[in-house]
Amino acid sequence: MARVPDRALHATSTTERGSFCTARCACGWRGPARRARSQARTDAERHASEAGDGPRPEHPVE
Ligand SMILES: [Zn+2]
Repeated sequence: MARVPDRALHATSTTERGSFCTARCACGWRGPARRARSQARTDAERHASEAGDGPRPEHPVE
C-alpha cells in the first residue's frame, strides 16, 4: 500500500478572480495568481505534497 500524505489539513481549492485563478488551502496558504486554472491546481498539488511531507525550505514564488 502506498504511503498517503496526510492532506486532511491541506484541503486545496481554486478560486477564479477575473481572468486569473488562485489556489487556496484550508491551512491559509494561497498560491500566486495564474492565468490558467491548471497551473493553479498544480500549485495546490505541490503545496499539499510538500506540506504533507513535512517542513521544507520554501521555494521563491514568482
Ligand atoms: Zn496547506
